[in-house]
Amino acid sequence: MTTTAEAAPNAGPKPLTEGPQARGVLIALYAFVVIPFLAVLAAVPVAWGGWLSWTDIAIGAVFYVVSGLGITVGFHRYFTHGSFKAKRWLRVALAVAGSLAIEGNIIQWVADHRRHHMFSDQEGDPHSPWRYGTGYWALTKGLWFAHMGWMFSRELSNRERFAPDLLADEDIDRVDKAFPALVIFSTLGPALIGGLVTWSWQGALTAFFWAGIVRIGLLHHITWSINSVCHVYGERPFEVRNGDKASNFWPLALVSFGESWHNLHHADPTCARHGVLRGQIDISARVIWLFEKTGAAWAVKWPNHERLAAKMTKA
Ligand SMILES: [Zn+2]
Ligand SMILES: [Zn+2]
Repeated sequence: MTTTAEAAPNAGPKPLTEGPQARGVLIALYAFVVIPFLAVLAAVPVAWGGWLSWTDIAIGAVFYVVSGLGITVGFHRYFTHGSFKAKRWLRVALAVAGSLAIEGNIIQWVADHRRHHMFSDQEGDPHSPWRYGTGYWALTKGLWFAHMGWMFSRELSNRERFAPDLLADEDIDRVDKAFPALVIFSTLGPALIGGLVTWSWQGALTAFFWAGIVRIGLLHHITWSINSVCHVYGERPFEVRNGDKASNFWPLALVSFGESWHNLHHADPTCARHGVLRGQIDISARVIWLFEKTGAAWAVKWPNHERLAAKMTKA
């Protein structure tokens, strides 16, 4: 028997959020956000002392590139925005690679990001730096909130509303549930590899420090800068929705694999290339191009020049 009151919630759109995050998640969040950040701060004097080897750099670079592209090409351009279609193996590989960045499980990540695009810098945006206003202190507080504060006091974006396609996908659901195991692999895998390569405990320890936690911390802060810096500072050559403050911030283009061309991204979210103007290097777009060449990806939404010209705010 259904009463009108029970039937009513199904009548309108699903709610934005589905309740606060669990305490265990919050504790894990502190561990994985604060410890890598402290490691980054500690990194310079440690390197100075000679505790950084080429093995650590090589392992760290591989993990940085794989997990970073997993986020930009996988979680972001493919899963969130559907910029291209992909073979099943590539789809699963991208989901696994992105999970290694330890930015949360894939379905929640996508739900949060779709909500961000729906409400960019308006009420409902999970991480707008403009949330407290435009004054100096309000913006300082807002930048901190958009960068990482939002994760500590959030209502989880409703996955059923924002990511029903991924919830219904068995492969992705499996990767989503395997997230804790992938976190362990991403954190301890470098130590294992470093230990085996150098056949020493010291090698395992320095690889754990550099290629494990320092690499995780670095990628975190680069990714989060897209949410904070790229909604405040930089150029805005393209027209975006009223109130949306997304901007292009060139200094982060290389390390963010092209994601800091964020103004274009908000102007044309499904476009597979974010760096569309002359000289705007976009490594993620190049990787998608490679997948397309090998036949693993197809139906790529490459920039449409007429559409872009219409959105330009200056010649
Ligand atoms: Zn944005
Ligand atoms: Zn996006």
